[in-house]
Amino acid sequence: MPDIGFLNGRFMPLEQVLVPVEDRGFQFGDGVYEVIRTYRGVPYQLEAHLARLERSAQAIGLALPYRLREWQDFVREGLALGAHDESKVYIQVTRGVAPRDHAFPASTSPTMVMTVRALRPLDAALRETGVEAATMDDLRWGRCDIKSVNLLPNVMAKQKAKEIGAFEAIFLRNGMVTEGAVSNVMVVRGEVLMTAPEGERILSGVTRSVVLALARKAGVTVQERAVSVEELRSADEVFLTGTTVEVLAVVRLDGAPVGTGRPGTVTGLLSARFQASLG
Ligand code: PLP
Repeated sequence: MPDIGFLNGRFMPLEQVLVPVEDRGFQFGDGVYEVIRTYRGVPYQLEAHLARLERSAQAIGLALPYRLREWQDFVREGLALGAHDESKVYIQVTRGVAPRDHAFPASTSPTMVMTVRALRPLDAALRETGVEAATMDDLRWGRCDIKSVNLLPNVMAKQKAKEIGAFEAIFLRNGMVTEGAVSNVMVVRGEVLMTAPEGERILSGVTRSVVLALARKAGVTVQERAVSVEELRSADEVFLTGTTVEVLAVVRLDGAPVGTGRPGTVTGLLSARFQASLG
């Protein structure tokens, strides 16, 4: 099964996709992206991801080169060409190629790249055991709601987590939990599920919205509000949500057990409901 690439309207083998060195995505991180996965070959929450791509682009003053319907068609065509059992689609749009100058170029067309690769699902054992996370200062900028390709703080946090044997970094800003390096963070205390509110400090995760809706439907009290590091450390359960992690228990935090040190009941319930919601 081939890995598929796409550049500005044309599909090609992934290794043939080349972007010029003066692309502003390469030089400035001047671009936005999305990651979409399939379930049973169907792109999950495609419209929500494309809507977020549109919001991210708008927030950085970038006019997207295609309409929603065209994006949907490109994604479906890429999936058909790749013909993987399950795929991971990466879309990146940058402000395009121009001589290096910080201010926007007067006239440049955006660069649009898509890759379609076989999905490597998360190790099933991790779903059973849960994972370790490590807290870190949130050194990111003030518009984390924009899914920008500027991921250096996330990259560094993930690397630091890896070096100490943790799966994910959980960011703290002024003593409050924001989110993970690649996920949203949910904290369960008693009967209440808490998570940072939408806003400029976090990415509004597509999985986050789905899981919060499932939680409310299951009768769990949901509070979208600032969660302190003390609440995090004394939580009964902590879990992550995201396109690649789905619903994933955090059972150790900074080397100490979370709750019982095993995936908790609310996490288990929502993980099962999430899987069931996939049809
Ligand atoms: N927060 C950050 C920083 C992320 O990078 C991601 C996913 O990549 C998420 C949250 C989860 O978002 P989603 O559920 O849309 O994948």
